[in-house]
Amino acid sequence: MTSVRDRDVTDFDADDPDFDRRPETDQSFENALAKARDGKRLTVADGIELITTGTDANGIDQERKEAVLEAADRRRAETVGEEVTFVANLNNNVTTACNTGCLFCNFKDSAHAFEAESGIDHPGFTKTPAESRRIVSDALDLGISEVCSVSGLHPAFALNEDHHEILRSHADPAREVNYKPPEVYATDPGTYRDQMAAMSVDGVHLHSMTPEEAYHAKRGTDWSYEDVYRELAEAGLDSAPGTAAEILVDEVRDVICPGKIRTDDWVAAMEGAMAAGLDTTATIMYGHVENAAHRVEHLQVVRDLQDRTGGITEFVPLSFIHENTPLAEHGVVESGASDAEDELMIAVSRLFLDNVEHVQSSWVKYGDEKGLKMLNCGADDFMGTILSEEITKRAGGQFGQYRSFEEYVDMVTAIGRTPVERSTDYRTRRVIDPTDRPHGPTLGPRADGTPMLADRDHRDQDHLDSESVALDD
Ligand code: SF4
Repeated sequence: MTSVRDRDVTDFDADDPDFDRRPETDQSFENALAKARDGKRLTVADGIELITTGTDANGIDQERKEAVLEAADRRRAETVGEEVTFVANLNNNVTTACNTGCLFCNFKDSAHAFEAESGIDHPGFTKTPAESRRIVSDALDLGISEVCSVSGLHPAFALNEDHHEILRSHADPAREVNYKPPEVYATDPGTYRDQMAAMSVDGVHLHSMTPEEAYHAKRGTDWSYEDVYRELAEAGLDSAPGTAAEILVDEVRDVICPGKIRTDDWVAAMEGAMAAGLDTTATIMYGHVENAAHRVEHLQVVRDLQDRTGGITEFVPLSFIHENTPLAEHGVVESGASDAEDELMIAVSRLFLDNVEHVQSSWVKYGDEKGLKMLNCGADDFMGTILSEEITKRAGGQFGQYRSFEEYVDMVTAIGRTPVERSTDYRTRRVIDPTDRPHGPTLGPRADGTPMLADRDHRDQDHLDSESVALDD
């Protein structure tokens, strides 16, 4: 069945995108580079010059690119030193049911298929709060300190019982507020509050509820984002991932995710989370239909937000994995970002975001070799163990699954840097002595330094594969 959004995207001309914003400036590459080297705050025009290696020529200039990467690496060393951090974490996502139809996403399954009477065979899942609790509890025994949970926007999801009542009271809940009651579905996901309480076990850090999920948890009401995040924090939520950001320029969102909240709503949700006392992160998903100007404008939105709030602990550039996504199936994109674009995205993130301390290299997106290279382009954080990762895998990515502490230590020391286990909020750190094997996590509530799993070839992954996934939107 072709959805409304599927039809919309066929109108998009990838060779001649009708965007208002284009990578044109009256700045020069040399001036922008000099400002970056001097530690001056960059303008959007400066950022565009750096990320394109100059708008005075087409394509990436290798020499200029190396100069940008070198400036970013130096800034990284001045800002955070030689440590490379990572966290012992589990991804436990509750459901793949979603009707939002984002065209870059292959994680979701049509929510209709999850209805008890649908008779539709589908590969998706929904977990009850009890199942989520058991999964987190089992992972705590392996030493995790963080559980990260991001889910599809299941129509039966509501913030709490009051929210269910409000949503039910609409004349046509499915059409007006994307709601069907839990009894319609084969599995009831519980409320958002229930799920937060279930995953908040023994003091593990719970990192969940993206701005898009927070919007879903308040749909059909006049509640503020702060109200929603306060209630979730009471239930056990510790911090919120600033995913669902994609590109924070609406003319791009109109193409890739027209069903999602707009840029101003994403910013309002993040401000609400921070007003409720939660730390946040921020992401960018790049390498699809956007241009260099959109990437830098996105950085400006994040930098402005951080100037106002100071609550963003890290910035996470996510390179678009195009295979198996609707954007690729419709012929809108044929590839993701090039290696040079990835390097420049990391580097300009470090240089432009002068108020965000940490920049992450995502080994799930980049793979090992390139992920390590990014640590010399401005990044200083190398993600987490991610006991299971499914979303990137389903979209065709090759690098999901699991990273042991042994691998982390070997990789980080191989590039001459210092491996450091961290907590999600970076406030607790443990420098790891590479000679003191075996390496295992110690910061988790039940961690004692025992290796979580022996290594990637010898792990018993089957039960984790079916239970724990990650959504990198
Ligand atoms: S990115 Fe999130 S909101 Fe969009 S379709 Fe996928 S699961 Fe749904």
